[in-house]
Amino acid sequence: MKVIDHINQAKETLISFEVLPPLKGKGIEALYNHLDPLMEFKPAFINVTYHRSEHIFKKKADGSFEKVVVRKRPGTESICAAIMNKYDVDTVPHLICGGFGVNETEDALINLRYLGIDNVLVLRGDAAKNESTFEPEPGGHKYASDLLKQVVNLNAGVYLEDELKNTHKTDFCIGVAGYPEKHFEAPNMDTDLAYLKAKVEGGADYIITQMFFDNAKFYAFVDACRAIGITVPIIPGLKPVYSKKQLNILPKTFHIDLPRDLSNEILNCKTDEDVEKVGAEWLLMQSKDLKKSGVPVLHYYTLGRPHVVANVVKDL
Ligand code: FAD
Repeated sequence: MKVIDHINQAKETLISFEVLPPLKGKGIEALYNHLDPLMEFKPAFINVTYHRSEHIFKKKADGSFEKVVVRKRPGTESICAAIMNKYDVDTVPHLICGGFGVNETEDALINLRYLGIDNVLVLRGDAAKNESTFEPEPGGHKYASDLLKQVVNLNAGVYLEDELKNTHKTDFCIGVAGYPEKHFEAPNMDTDLAYLKAKVEGGADYIITQMFFDNAKFYAFVDACRAIGITVPIIPGLKPVYSKKQLNILPKTFHIDLPRDLSNEILNCKTDEDVEKVGAEWLLMQSKDLKKSGVPVLHYYTLGRPHVVANVVKDL
């Protein structure tokens, strides 16, 4: 079922989770162990992130280095199918521009359709690890809006080979990303919102946000979206803090702020177990407030800490 249908049919705020594919070398059981404690909360859907390949330099026997390509977390599409099969829940594979040519993207979409997957979250992706700025694949998409157009075309039965006749129309529900604290490359919030609006006008059914720790920023973002005519549902993305290191890693990686009250509480913690408690309380406080405000879905980035998220959702 489509995310947008879940939202339209819901009588109260829904719950959804986001997981990463297991690291190469681990079995799918690692992911099931992660998801098992979360399934009692009947998530409306589960997102599965996409991780592009990286170039690394491997030392050879003669001392020289060889450039090799590794993909640490393969398998988004097949993992979605496995999750659907095991838990009978809808999934949302993340689809990115980075590393994909348009033909590979089309093949991926066709495969998703064959697997019975109704949803995609359409993203640009970040710069590859060894690049300073995002570079599209030759002939690939530069922005999420370009990738979105390809999905919209396929939904209309328009494939890359225009001589195909009487084609099957896919019917993907399309989500896109939004940034309550602005995408880090955008020169200002207004420009970022204008591009977000273009994604919605291009056919996105809903927006899901980058994590944030200050609900006031989310509400201001929603207001700003509504003010420029973005009417689709906006789903808040939420993540627990569980270690002191995250005080610096989260702002650096995701270009977000942690409110002073939260960072002070974390700084006062003696151990990471204490930080986890503080993070869980903060997440519960955010969740209750967002639920009260009537958000359509609470979307949790469970990454590495399913038990923290499970306890928060239980207390909601
Ligand atoms: P875009 O919408 O293309 O925007 C990128 C930048 O370009 C923005 O600054 C925007 O303002 C600007 N822009 C947009 N359109 C135009 C245009 N036409 N002309 C000029 N400028 C433009 N990354 C992964 O690799 N895998 C994942 O699974 C993943 N999941 C994510 C899930 C969520 C909910 C979020 C919020 C992010 C996720 N990301 C993921 C990270 C995401 O790929 C990065 O944040 C990326 O830098 C931007 O992606 P986007 O889809 O927002 O890009």
